[in-house]
Amino acid sequence: MIVGLVADIHANLAAFEAVLNHLRQTYGPPDALWCLGDIVGYGPDPNECIDLLRQFRLVAVVGNHDLVAIGLLEPGLFNPDARAAALWTAQVLRPDNKLFLQNLPQRAVRDDFTLVHGSPRSPVWEYLLTVSAACESFQHFETRFCLIGHSHIPLIFAFNPNTGNCAQTEVPPVLDLTRVRGRLIINPGSVGQPRDRDPRAAYAVLDAERQTLYHHRVEYNIRQTAEKMLKLGLPERLAVRLNYGI
Ligand code: ZN
Repeated sequence: MIVGLVADIHANLAAFEAVLNHLRQTYGPPDALWCLGDIVGYGPDPNECIDLLRQFRLVAVVGNHDLVAIGLLEPGLFNPDARAAALWTAQVLRPDNKLFLQNLPQRAVRDDFTLVHGSPRSPVWEYLLTVSAACESFQHFETRFCLIGHSHIPLIFAFNPNTGNCAQTEVPPVLDLTRVRGRLIINPGSVGQPRDRDPRAAYAVLDAERQTLYHHRVEYNIRQTAEKMLKLGLPERLAVRLNYGI
């Protein structure tokens, strides 16, 4: 079974389509997509991205931007640009797509994997960017692996149950899960708004039979997304940052 792992699409259809094309060309049609939240917010194509996602056999969890866009969460910590984009998204989302977002769970479990947006301890808001925060998070899920998004930074936290130690590593291009001792929290990075200074779309693929995870970066037409955003009146800063992966 080939599973595409996508996080933080953020209504960036050009990036999402580039990822899906790369996935199909490299592995054939995927058997499923697992989506780690923030399907909408920031970008210009919220309905189109949800429509595309819904064509797949899908496991998806909800992100903070999804909840703000449908009015189920206050945009408390949002900066003015994120807030403006959320308001615009709320106005354009079709009722059926609002319902789709409303029905997404905060947590899903498939086989050896727990899926959440932020962290297993606080699925909607917590950013996992430090080893200390990640170390505590391992107590909040049961499976061997946890897949997260939210920070838009590809990274892995590893927990060694023998020593109790946690460590942070980069996501390698190929990761053989059968050789992993202990447990992992894995962030594949963001499809639609990468923030690790690499503007290419990030995603991962799980080959369930081979128990192998592949991590990819894919170029997409950034200008197309940015121009669409400006035309729609979305904040200029959100369009510009796509060029820099920040
Ligand atoms: Zn996000």
